Amino acid sequence: MEVKNYMELYVWDMLDRVLEKQGNVCKCEQCRYDIVALALNDLPPRYVVSDKGETYTRAKSLEQQFMIDVIAKITQAANVVAQHPRHE
Ligand SMILES: [Zn+2]
Repeated sequence: MEVKNYMELYVWDMLDRVLEKQGNVCKCEQCRYDIVALALNDLPPRYVVSDKGETYTRAKSLEQQFMIDVIAKITQAANVVAQHPRHE
């Protein structure tokens, strides 16, 4: 068993979906991590006890209402990183 920040898993899950619609955003590893970190700083952590991924699956179906918030934060973070990428 382990305690996981489910919000973190969720943001990684949604990242590609958001980036697909953001043609101007660099999708390299550095920028992807920067976007996730920025978005997570703005989202409340949601800790769950994970046992072989089961809790995550259950939490995911319960928390669909957070999807819009999470997508909005990732979009915001992607725009910030696109304007100030930490590389040339
Ligand atoms: Zn990049």
